[in-house]
Amino acid sequence: MSLKSEYLQQVYKKVEMRNEHEAEFLQAVLEVLESLEPVIESRPELKQYGIIERMTEPERAIIFRVPWIDDEGKVQVNRGFRVQFNSAIGPYKGGLRFHKSVNLSIMKFLGFEQCFKNSLTGLPMGGAKGGSDFHPQGRSDGEVMRFCQSFMTELYRHIGPDTDVPAGDMGVGGREIGYLYGQYRRITNSTAGVLTGKGLSYGGSLIRPEATGYGLCYFTQEMLQNMRDTSFDGKTVVISGSGNVAIYAAYKAIEFGAKVVAMSDSAGYIYDKDGVDIDFIRELKEVRRGRIAEYPETHPNATYTQDSTGIWNIPCDIALPCATQNELGEASAEALVKNGVMAVAEGANMPSTPGAVAVFQKAGILFAPAKASNAGGVAVSGLEMCQNSARYSWTAEEVDRKLYEIMVNIFHNADNAAKLYGMDGNLVAGANIAGFTKIADAMLAQGVTY
Ligand code: NDP
Repeated sequence: MSLKSEYLQQVYKKVEMRNEHEAEFLQAVLEVLESLEPVIESRPELKQYGIIERMTEPERAIIFRVPWIDDEGKVQVNRGFRVQFNSAIGPYKGGLRFHKSVNLSIMKFLGFEQCFKNSLTGLPMGGAKGGSDFHPQGRSDGEVMRFCQSFMTELYRHIGPDTDVPAGDMGVGGREIGYLYGQYRRITNSTAGVLTGKGLSYGGSLIRPEATGYGLCYFTQEMLQNMRDTSFDGKTVVISGSGNVAIYAAYKAIEFGAKVVAMSDSAGYIYDKDGVDIDFIRELKEVRRGRIAEYPETHPNATYTQDSTGIWNIPCDIALPCATQNELGEASAEALVKNGVMAVAEGANMPSTPGAVAVFQKAGILFAPAKASNAGGVAVSGLEMCQNSARYSWTAEEVDRKLYEIMVNIFHNADNAAKLYGMDGNLVAGANIAGFTKIADAMLAQGVTY
Protein backbone atom coordinates (compact mmCIF):
# COMPACT_ATOMS: atom_id res chain seq x y z
CA MET A 1 0.00 0.00 0.00
CA SER A 2 1.40 3.40 -0.97
CA LEU A 3 -0.37 5.46 1.75
CA LYS A 4 1.93 7.30 4.16
CA SER A 5 -0.58 8.59 6.71
CA GLU A 6 -1.22 6.04 9.47
CA TYR A 7 -4.82 7.21 9.74
CA LEU A 8 -5.50 6.74 6.01
CA GLN A 9 -3.82 3.32 6.15
CA GLN A 10 -6.26 2.29 8.88
CA VAL A 11 -9.26 3.64 6.99
CA TYR A 12 -8.19 1.84 3.83
CA LYS A 13 -7.57 -1.46 5.67
CA LYS A 14 -11.11 -1.33 6.99
CA VAL A 15 -12.52 -0.60 3.53
CA GLU A 16 -10.44 -3.52 2.23
CA MET A 17 -11.71 -5.91 4.91
CA ARG A 18 -15.33 -4.97 4.33
CA ASN A 19 -15.14 -5.17 0.54
CA GLU A 20 -12.42 -7.73 -0.01
CA HIS A 21 -13.82 -9.12 -3.28
CA GLU A 22 -14.45 -5.72 -4.86
CA ALA A 23 -11.23 -5.08 -6.80
CA GLU A 24 -12.45 -2.14 -8.90
CA PHE A 25 -13.98 -0.37 -5.90
CA LEU A 26 -10.79 -0.79 -3.86
CA GLN A 27 -8.69 0.50 -6.78
CA ALA A 28 -10.84 3.65 -7.02
CA VAL A 29 -10.77 4.28 -3.24
CA LEU A 30 -7.01 3.85 -2.94
CA GLU A 31 -6.37 6.30 -5.78
CA VAL A 32 -8.48 8.97 -4.08
CA LEU A 33 -6.98 8.39 -0.61
CA GLU A 34 -3.44 8.73 -2.01
CA SER A 35 -4.35 12.18 -3.34
CA LEU A 36 -5.90 13.28 -0.06
CA GLU A 37 -2.85 12.81 2.19
CA PRO A 38 -1.91 16.53 2.31
CA VAL A 39 -5.55 17.59 2.84
CA ILE A 40 -6.02 15.24 5.80
CA GLU A 41 -2.77 16.53 7.26
CA SER A 42 -3.89 20.16 7.11
CA ARG A 43 -7.57 19.72 8.18
CA PRO A 44 -7.88 17.67 11.42
CA GLU A 45 -11.67 18.12 11.51
CA LEU A 46 -11.98 15.73 8.57
CA LYS A 47 -10.61 12.95 10.75
CA GLN A 48 -12.62 14.01 13.81
CA TYR A 49 -15.91 13.83 11.90
CA GLY A 50 -15.11 10.59 10.08
CA ILE A 51 -15.51 12.18 6.66
CA ILE A 52 -13.35 9.65 4.82
CA GLU A 53 -14.93 6.67 6.62
CA ARG A 54 -18.38 7.98 5.65
CA MET A 55 -17.47 8.83 2.06
CA THR A 56 -16.12 5.34 1.35
CA GLU A 57 -19.40 3.66 2.39
CA PRO A 58 -22.42 4.19 0.11
CA GLU A 59 -25.46 5.80 1.72
CA ARG A 60 -27.56 3.02 0.19
CA ALA A 61 -27.04 0.09 -2.23
CA ILE A 62 -30.12 -1.53 -3.74
CA ILE A 63 -29.92 -4.93 -5.48
CA PHE A 64 -32.97 -6.38 -7.15
CA ARG A 65 -34.27 -9.17 -9.39
CA VAL A 66 -35.20 -8.25 -12.99
CA PRO A 67 -37.32 -10.96 -14.66
CA TRP A 68 -38.36 -10.55 -18.30
CA ILE A 69 -39.53 -12.68 -21.23
CA ASP A 70 -37.27 -13.20 -24.27
CA ASP A 71 -38.43 -13.60 -27.90
CA GLU A 72 -38.67 -17.39 -27.48
CA GLY A 73 -41.11 -16.95 -24.58
CA LYS A 74 -38.51 -18.04 -22.02
CA VAL A 75 -38.24 -16.21 -18.69
CA GLN A 76 -34.82 -14.60 -18.16
CA VAL A 77 -33.60 -13.25 -14.84
CA ASN A 78 -31.00 -10.48 -14.48
CA ARG A 79 -29.70 -8.59 -11.47
CA GLY A 80 -30.38 -4.86 -11.11
CA PHE A 81 -28.39 -2.36 -9.02
CA ARG A 82 -28.61 1.23 -7.83
CA VAL A 83 -25.81 2.41 -5.55
CA GLN A 84 -26.71 5.80 -4.03
CA PHE A 85 -23.32 6.91 -2.82
CA ASN A 86 -23.50 10.44 -1.53
CA SER A 87 -26.23 13.12 -1.56
CA ALA A 88 -24.51 15.79 0.57
CA ILE A 89 -24.40 18.33 -2.27
CA GLY A 90 -27.57 17.42 -4.20
CA PRO A 91 -29.79 14.61 -5.50
CA TYR A 92 -28.02 11.41 -6.48
CA LYS A 93 -26.97 11.55 -10.13
CA GLY A 94 -25.17 8.99 -12.27
CA GLY A 95 -25.68 6.64 -15.17
CA LEU A 96 -27.13 3.19 -15.65
CA ARG A 97 -24.86 0.58 -17.26
CA PHE A 98 -26.21 -2.52 -19.02
CA HIS A 99 -23.31 -4.90 -19.66
CA LYS A 100 -22.60 -8.55 -18.90
CA SER A 101 -19.65 -7.53 -16.66
CA VAL A 102 -21.79 -5.46 -14.24
CA ASN A 103 -21.46 -6.46 -10.57
CA LEU A 104 -21.51 -4.71 -7.19
CA SER A 105 -17.81 -3.83 -7.29
CA ILE A 106 -18.14 -2.07 -10.65
CA MET A 107 -21.30 -0.25 -9.51
CA LYS A 108 -19.55 0.93 -6.34
CA PHE A 109 -16.39 2.09 -8.08
CA LEU A 110 -18.46 4.04 -10.59
CA GLY A 111 -20.75 5.49 -7.89
CA PHE A 112 -17.78 6.52 -5.75
CA GLU A 113 -16.00 8.25 -8.66
CA GLN A 114 -19.26 9.90 -9.70
CA CYS A 115 -19.44 11.84 -6.40
CA PHE A 116 -16.15 13.64 -7.10
CA LYS A 117 -16.90 14.16 -10.77
CA ASN A 118 -20.30 15.69 -10.08
CA SER A 119 -18.81 17.94 -7.44
CA LEU A 120 -16.20 19.15 -9.94
CA THR A 121 -18.88 20.30 -12.38
CA GLY A 122 -19.91 22.98 -9.87
CA LEU A 123 -23.56 21.86 -10.16
CA PRO A 124 -25.53 20.63 -7.11
CA MET A 125 -25.48 16.88 -7.80
CA GLY A 126 -24.66 13.97 -5.52
CA GLY A 127 -23.21 10.70 -6.81
CA ALA A 128 -24.78 7.34 -7.72
CA LYS A 129 -24.52 4.58 -10.31
CA GLY A 130 -26.72 1.71 -11.35
CA GLY A 131 -27.34 -0.88 -13.99
CA SER A 132 -27.63 -4.56 -14.68
CA ASP A 133 -25.71 -7.58 -16.00
CA PHE A 134 -28.20 -7.59 -18.90
CA HIS A 135 -26.20 -7.40 -22.17
CA PRO A 136 -28.18 -5.58 -24.90
CA GLN A 137 -25.88 -6.67 -27.74
CA GLY A 138 -27.73 -9.15 -29.99
CA ARG A 139 -31.09 -8.55 -28.26
CA SER A 140 -34.12 -7.43 -30.29
CA ASP A 141 -35.82 -4.07 -29.66
CA GLY A 142 -38.73 -5.95 -28.08
CA GLU A 143 -36.43 -7.78 -25.66
CA VAL A 144 -34.64 -4.54 -24.71
CA MET A 145 -38.01 -2.87 -24.12
CA ARG A 146 -39.34 -5.69 -21.91
CA PHE A 147 -36.11 -5.73 -19.92
CA CYS A 148 -36.18 -1.93 -19.42
CA GLN A 149 -39.83 -2.05 -18.32
CA SER A 150 -39.10 -4.75 -15.74
CA PHE A 151 -35.99 -2.90 -14.51
CA MET A 152 -37.96 0.32 -14.00
CA THR A 153 -40.81 -1.51 -12.28
CA GLU A 154 -38.48 -1.84 -9.28
CA LEU A 155 -36.22 1.20 -9.76
CA TYR A 156 -39.04 3.76 -9.87
CA ARG A 157 -39.63 3.59 -6.09
CA HIS A 158 -36.03 4.65 -5.36
CA ILE A 159 -35.73 7.64 -7.73
CA GLY A 160 -37.34 11.06 -8.24
CA PRO A 161 -36.43 14.52 -9.57
CA ASP A 162 -35.23 15.70 -6.12
CA THR A 163 -33.99 12.30 -4.94
CA ASP A 164 -32.10 10.46 -7.65
CA VAL A 165 -31.92 11.16 -11.40
CA PRO A 166 -30.27 8.34 -13.42
CA ALA A 167 -28.87 8.72 -16.95
CA GLY A 168 -27.24 6.46 -19.57
CA ASP A 169 -23.83 4.78 -19.60
CA MET A 170 -22.45 1.76 -21.47
CA GLY A 171 -25.29 -0.11 -23.14
CA VAL A 172 -27.84 2.55 -22.18
CA GLY A 173 -28.42 5.12 -24.92
CA GLY A 174 -31.43 7.01 -26.23
CA ARG A 175 -33.44 3.85 -26.97
CA GLU A 176 -33.09 2.43 -23.45
CA ILE A 177 -33.71 5.79 -21.74
CA GLY A 178 -36.93 6.09 -23.79
CA TYR A 179 -38.22 2.69 -22.66
CA LEU A 180 -37.22 3.36 -19.03
CA TYR A 181 -38.88 6.77 -19.00
CA GLY A 182 -42.07 5.44 -20.62
CA GLN A 183 -42.44 2.83 -17.89
CA TYR A 184 -41.71 5.39 -15.13
CA ARG A 185 -44.40 7.69 -16.52
CA ARG A 186 -46.90 4.85 -16.73
CA ILE A 187 -46.30 3.56 -13.19
CA THR A 188 -46.22 6.95 -11.46
CA ASN A 189 -48.56 9.02 -13.65
CA SER A 190 -45.87 11.70 -13.53
CA THR A 191 -43.80 13.43 -16.20
CA ALA A 192 -41.14 14.59 -13.76
CA GLY A 193 -37.61 14.88 -15.18
CA VAL A 194 -36.48 11.73 -13.48
CA LEU A 195 -33.99 10.56 -16.10
CA THR A 196 -31.56 12.50 -18.26
CA GLY A 197 -30.46 11.69 -21.78
CA LYS A 198 -34.11 11.78 -22.82
CA GLY A 199 -35.18 12.32 -26.45
CA LEU A 200 -35.72 15.92 -27.57
CA SER A 201 -39.47 15.32 -28.03
CA TYR A 202 -40.00 14.54 -24.33
CA GLY A 203 -37.72 16.78 -22.28
CA GLY A 204 -34.20 15.96 -23.43
CA SER A 205 -31.45 18.53 -23.84
CA LEU A 206 -29.68 19.42 -27.04
CA ILE A 207 -25.98 18.40 -26.94
CA ARG A 208 -26.53 15.64 -24.31
CA PRO A 209 -25.49 12.83 -26.70
CA GLU A 210 -22.38 14.77 -27.71
CA ALA A 211 -21.55 16.10 -24.24
CA THR A 212 -19.05 13.59 -22.84
CA GLY A 213 -16.96 13.41 -26.02
CA TYR A 214 -17.09 17.15 -26.71
CA GLY A 215 -16.34 17.91 -23.05
CA LEU A 216 -13.35 15.58 -23.13
CA CYS A 217 -11.89 17.54 -26.04
CA TYR A 218 -12.64 20.94 -24.44
CA PHE A 219 -10.78 19.80 -21.31
CA THR A 220 -7.89 18.36 -23.34
CA GLN A 221 -7.58 21.50 -25.46
CA GLU A 222 -7.42 23.68 -22.31
CA MET A 223 -4.79 21.35 -20.81
CA LEU A 224 -2.69 21.42 -24.00
CA GLN A 225 -2.89 25.21 -24.23
CA ASN A 226 -2.11 25.90 -20.57
CA MET A 227 0.47 23.22 -19.89
CA ARG A 228 2.24 22.84 -23.27
CA ASP A 229 1.27 25.95 -25.24
CA THR A 230 -0.14 23.80 -28.04
CA SER A 231 -3.51 22.42 -29.26
CA PHE A 232 -5.21 19.53 -31.13
CA ASP A 233 -4.42 21.21 -34.43
CA GLY A 234 -2.24 18.99 -36.62
CA LYS A 235 -1.99 16.20 -34.00
CA THR A 236 -2.50 12.47 -34.57
CA VAL A 237 -5.09 10.98 -32.21
CA VAL A 238 -5.97 7.39 -31.22
CA ILE A 239 -9.37 6.79 -29.60
CA SER A 240 -10.43 3.46 -28.11
CA GLY A 241 -14.07 2.39 -28.24
CA SER A 242 -16.62 3.39 -30.85
CA GLY A 243 -19.58 4.09 -28.59
CA ASN A 244 -21.18 7.34 -27.48
CA VAL A 245 -18.10 8.91 -25.86
CA ALA A 246 -15.61 7.81 -28.53
CA ILE A 247 -17.72 8.95 -31.49
CA TYR A 248 -18.29 12.52 -30.26
CA ALA A 249 -14.71 12.86 -28.99
CA ALA A 250 -13.63 11.97 -32.53
CA TYR A 251 -15.96 14.57 -34.07
CA LYS A 252 -14.63 17.36 -31.83
CA ALA A 253 -10.95 16.36 -32.20
CA ILE A 254 -11.37 16.43 -35.98
CA GLU A 255 -13.14 19.82 -35.77
CA PHE A 256 -10.14 21.08 -33.74
CA GLY A 257 -7.82 20.09 -36.62
CA ALA A 258 -6.58 16.67 -35.45
CA LYS A 259 -6.42 13.43 -37.44
CA VAL A 260 -8.05 10.45 -35.70
CA VAL A 261 -6.32 7.36 -37.10
CA ALA A 262 -7.70 4.48 -34.98
CA MET A 263 -10.83 3.37 -33.12
CA SER A 264 -11.97 0.04 -31.63
CA ASP A 265 -14.71 -2.09 -30.12
CA SER A 266 -14.41 -4.96 -27.68
CA ALA A 267 -13.36 -7.37 -30.46
CA GLY A 268 -10.64 -5.37 -32.27
CA TYR A 269 -9.46 -2.09 -33.75
CA ILE A 270 -9.21 -0.34 -37.11
CA TYR A 271 -6.30 1.76 -38.32
CA ASP A 272 -6.87 4.27 -41.11
CA LYS A 273 -3.77 6.32 -41.81
CA ASP A 274 -5.82 8.83 -43.83
CA GLY A 275 -8.02 9.59 -40.82
CA VAL A 276 -11.18 7.67 -39.88
CA ASP A 277 -14.48 8.32 -41.65
CA ILE A 278 -16.37 9.26 -38.49
CA ASP A 279 -19.76 9.74 -40.21
CA PHE A 280 -19.51 6.13 -41.38
CA ILE A 281 -18.56 4.87 -37.90
CA ARG A 282 -21.42 6.79 -36.28
CA GLU A 283 -23.94 5.30 -38.70
CA LEU A 284 -22.41 1.81 -38.34
CA LYS A 285 -22.51 1.85 -34.52
CA GLU A 286 -25.50 4.05 -33.67
CA VAL A 287 -27.93 3.15 -36.45
CA ARG A 288 -26.95 -0.30 -37.72
CA ARG A 289 -25.46 -1.48 -34.37
CA GLY A 290 -22.71 -3.22 -36.40
CA ARG A 291 -19.11 -4.21 -35.60
CA ILE A 292 -16.04 -2.10 -36.31
CA ALA A 293 -14.60 -5.08 -38.23
CA GLU A 294 -16.91 -4.08 -41.10
CA TYR A 295 -15.09 -0.75 -41.67
CA PRO A 296 -12.38 -1.99 -44.11
CA GLU A 297 -15.05 -3.51 -46.39
CA THR A 298 -15.87 0.03 -47.59
CA HIS A 299 -12.53 1.69 -46.67
CA PRO A 300 -9.86 -0.46 -48.38
CA ASN A 301 -6.91 1.65 -47.12
CA ALA A 302 -7.81 0.75 -43.54
CA THR A 303 -6.83 -2.40 -41.64
CA TYR A 304 -8.69 -4.33 -38.94
CA THR A 305 -6.85 -6.21 -36.19
CA GLN A 306 -8.44 -8.51 -33.65
CA ASP A 307 -7.57 -7.77 -29.99
CA SER A 308 -8.59 -4.28 -28.99
CA THR A 309 -5.61 -3.61 -26.68
CA GLY A 310 -3.26 -3.54 -29.70
CA ILE A 311 -4.64 -0.08 -30.50
CA TRP A 312 -2.15 1.46 -28.02
CA ASN A 313 0.81 0.32 -30.15
CA ILE A 314 -0.15 2.82 -32.86
CA PRO A 315 2.06 5.95 -32.72
CA CYS A 316 0.07 9.08 -31.81
CA ASP A 317 0.41 12.50 -30.16
CA ILE A 318 -2.78 12.23 -28.12
CA ALA A 319 -4.50 9.09 -26.78
CA LEU A 320 -8.14 9.18 -25.67
CA PRO A 321 -9.20 5.91 -23.99
CA CYS A 322 -13.00 5.94 -24.32
CA ALA A 323 -14.05 2.27 -23.97
CA THR A 324 -14.04 0.78 -20.46
CA GLN A 325 -12.25 0.43 -17.11
CA ASN A 326 -8.68 -0.93 -16.99
CA GLU A 327 -8.44 -1.15 -20.78
CA LEU A 328 -5.01 0.54 -20.83
CA GLY A 329 -2.38 -1.34 -18.81
CA GLU A 330 1.27 -0.73 -18.01
CA ALA A 331 2.64 -2.36 -21.17
CA SER A 332 0.29 -0.30 -23.34
CA ALA A 333 1.31 2.87 -21.48
CA GLU A 334 4.96 2.06 -22.10
CA ALA A 335 4.26 1.54 -25.81
CA LEU A 336 2.49 4.92 -26.01
CA VAL A 337 5.38 6.69 -24.25
CA LYS A 338 7.98 4.96 -26.43
CA ASN A 339 6.09 6.13 -29.53
CA GLY A 340 6.14 9.76 -28.34
CA VAL A 341 2.63 10.36 -26.97
CA MET A 342 2.32 13.87 -25.49
CA ALA A 343 -1.09 13.68 -23.73
CA VAL A 344 -3.50 11.02 -22.49
CA ALA A 345 -7.02 12.12 -21.54
CA GLU A 346 -9.55 9.64 -20.18
CA GLY A 347 -13.03 9.53 -21.75
CA ALA A 348 -14.03 6.23 -20.15
CA ASN A 349 -14.18 5.78 -16.36
CA MET A 350 -10.84 4.56 -14.92
CA PRO A 351 -9.57 3.19 -18.27
CA SER A 352 -5.91 3.39 -17.20
CA THR A 353 -4.64 0.95 -14.58
CA PRO A 354 -2.65 2.41 -11.65
CA GLY A 355 0.53 1.01 -13.29
CA ALA A 356 -0.27 2.84 -16.53
CA VAL A 357 -0.89 6.14 -14.70
CA ALA A 358 2.47 5.75 -12.94
CA VAL A 359 4.19 5.26 -16.33
CA PHE A 360 2.60 8.46 -17.71
CA GLN A 361 3.45 10.49 -14.63
CA LYS A 362 7.06 9.26 -14.53
CA ALA A 363 7.50 10.13 -18.21
CA GLY A 364 6.06 13.63 -17.69
CA ILE A 365 3.16 12.98 -20.10
CA LEU A 366 0.10 15.22 -19.67
CA PHE A 367 -2.54 13.04 -18.02
CA ALA A 368 -6.20 14.00 -17.61
CA PRO A 369 -8.09 11.72 -15.18
CA ALA A 370 -11.65 10.64 -16.02
CA LYS A 371 -13.27 12.35 -13.03
CA ALA A 372 -12.28 15.67 -14.52
CA SER A 373 -12.02 15.08 -18.25
CA ASN A 374 -15.21 13.06 -18.82
CA ALA A 375 -17.46 15.17 -16.57
CA GLY A 376 -19.10 16.82 -19.59
CA GLY A 377 -21.82 14.17 -19.85
CA VAL A 378 -23.07 14.58 -16.32
CA ALA A 379 -22.65 18.35 -16.59
CA VAL A 380 -25.11 18.50 -19.48
CA SER A 381 -27.36 16.06 -17.61
CA GLY A 382 -27.36 18.69 -14.86
CA LEU A 383 -28.30 21.29 -17.47
CA GLU A 384 -31.11 18.99 -18.67
CA MET A 385 -32.42 18.93 -15.07
CA CYS A 386 -32.33 22.76 -14.99
CA GLN A 387 -34.30 22.96 -18.25
CA ASN A 388 -36.85 20.38 -17.02
CA SER A 389 -37.41 22.29 -13.77
CA ALA A 390 -37.82 25.57 -15.62
CA ARG A 391 -40.03 23.95 -18.34
CA TYR A 392 -37.69 25.53 -20.87
CA SER A 393 -35.20 24.50 -23.60
CA TRP A 394 -31.91 26.15 -24.37
CA THR A 395 -30.48 26.20 -27.92
CA ALA A 396 -27.62 23.90 -28.88
CA GLU A 397 -25.28 26.91 -28.86
CA GLU A 398 -26.32 27.89 -25.32
CA VAL A 399 -25.82 24.37 -23.95
CA ASP A 400 -22.52 23.93 -25.80
CA ARG A 401 -21.21 27.25 -24.45
CA LYS A 402 -22.14 26.29 -20.88
CA LEU A 403 -20.49 22.87 -21.36
CA TYR A 404 -17.33 24.54 -22.64
CA GLU A 405 -17.22 26.92 -19.66
CA ILE A 406 -17.76 24.07 -17.19
CA MET A 407 -14.92 21.99 -18.70
CA VAL A 408 -12.52 24.94 -18.72
CA ASN A 409 -13.39 25.62 -15.06
CA ILE A 410 -12.86 21.99 -14.12
CA PHE A 411 -9.38 22.09 -15.66
CA HIS A 412 -8.42 25.24 -13.74
CA ASN A 413 -9.94 24.03 -10.45
CA ALA A 414 -8.00 20.76 -10.67
CA ASP A 415 -4.80 22.52 -11.76
CA ASN A 416 -5.08 25.12 -8.96
CA ALA A 417 -5.86 22.51 -6.27
CA ALA A 418 -2.75 20.54 -7.32
CA LYS A 419 -0.65 23.71 -7.10
CA LEU A 420 -2.13 24.65 -3.71
CA TYR A 421 -1.01 21.35 -2.20
CA GLY A 422 2.45 21.39 -3.81
CA MET A 423 1.68 18.86 -6.59
CA ASP A 424 1.99 21.16 -9.59
CA GLY A 425 0.90 19.47 -12.84
CA ASN A 426 -0.66 16.44 -11.11
CA LEU A 427 -4.26 16.61 -12.33
CA VAL A 428 -5.14 13.27 -10.70
CA ALA A 429 -4.45 14.71 -7.26
CA GLY A 430 -5.90 18.11 -8.19
CA ALA A 431 -9.22 16.66 -9.43
CA ASN A 432 -9.58 14.41 -6.38
CA ILE A 433 -8.85 17.25 -3.95
CA ALA A 434 -11.09 19.81 -5.67
CA GLY A 435 -13.99 17.34 -5.93
CA PHE A 436 -13.52 16.11 -2.37
CA THR A 437 -13.33 19.52 -0.70
CA LYS A 438 -16.85 20.62 -1.67
CA ILE A 439 -18.45 17.36 -0.54
CA ALA A 440 -16.46 17.30 2.70
CA ASP A 441 -17.48 20.87 3.53
CA ALA A 442 -21.15 20.03 2.87
CA MET A 443 -20.96 16.95 5.10
CA LEU A 444 -19.27 18.90 7.89
CA ALA A 445 -21.94 21.61 7.72
CA GLN A 446 -24.79 19.09 7.87
CA GLY A 447 -23.59 17.17 10.94
CA VAL A 448 -23.40 13.41 11.37
CA THR A 449 -26.43 12.28 9.37
CA TYR A 450 -25.36 9.73 6.82
P1 NDP B 1 -21.13 2.65 -25.24
O1 NDP B 1 -21.83 1.43 -24.80
O2 NDP B 1 -21.81 3.63 -26.12
O3 NDP B 1 -19.75 2.24 -25.96
C1 NDP B 1 -18.77 1.48 -25.34
C2 NDP B 1 -17.70 1.17 -26.37
O4 NDP B 1 -16.58 0.56 -25.74
C3 NDP B 1 -18.19 0.21 -27.44
O5 NDP B 1 -17.56 0.53 -28.64
C4 NDP B 1 -17.67 -1.14 -26.91
O6 NDP B 1 -17.52 -2.14 -27.88
C5 NDP B 1 -16.33 -0.70 -26.38
N1 NDP B 1 -15.77 -1.65 -25.43
C6 NDP B 1 -16.35 -2.25 -24.38
N2 NDP B 1 -15.47 -3.04 -23.73
C7 NDP B 1 -14.31 -2.92 -24.39
C8 NDP B 1 -13.01 -3.47 -24.23
N3 NDP B 1 -12.75 -4.32 -23.24
N4 NDP B 1 -12.04 -3.09 -25.11
C9 NDP B 1 -12.30 -2.23 -26.10
N5 NDP B 1 -13.50 -1.69 -26.32
C10 NDP B 1 -14.49 -2.03 -25.48
O7 NDP B 1 -20.61 3.35 -23.90
P2 NDP B 1 -20.20 4.87 -23.66
O8 NDP B 1 -19.45 5.39 -24.83
O9 NDP B 1 -21.38 5.58 -23.16
O10 NDP B 1 -19.21 4.70 -22.41
C11 NDP B 1 -17.83 4.41 -22.57
C12 NDP B 1 -17.11 4.74 -21.28
O11 NDP B 1 -17.32 6.12 -20.96
C13 NDP B 1 -17.57 3.97 -20.04
O12 NDP B 1 -16.46 3.79 -19.18
C14 NDP B 1 -18.55 4.92 -19.39
O13 NDP B 1 -18.69 4.68 -18.00
C15 NDP B 1 -17.85 6.25 -19.66
N6 NDP B 1 -18.71 7.43 -19.57
C16 NDP B 1 -19.82 7.56 -20.37
C17 NDP B 1 -20.58 8.70 -20.30
C18 NDP B 1 -21.73 8.97 -21.21
O14 NDP B 1 -22.26 10.08 -21.19
N7 NDP B 1 -22.11 8.02 -22.07
C19 NDP B 1 -20.29 9.75 -19.30
C20 NDP B 1 -19.06 9.55 -18.58
C21 NDP B 1 -18.35 8.41 -18.70
P3 NDP B 1 -18.66 -3.28 -28.09
O15 NDP B 1 -19.67 -2.62 -28.98
O16 NDP B 1 -17.91 -4.38 -28.74
O17 NDP B 1 -19.19 -3.64 -26.73
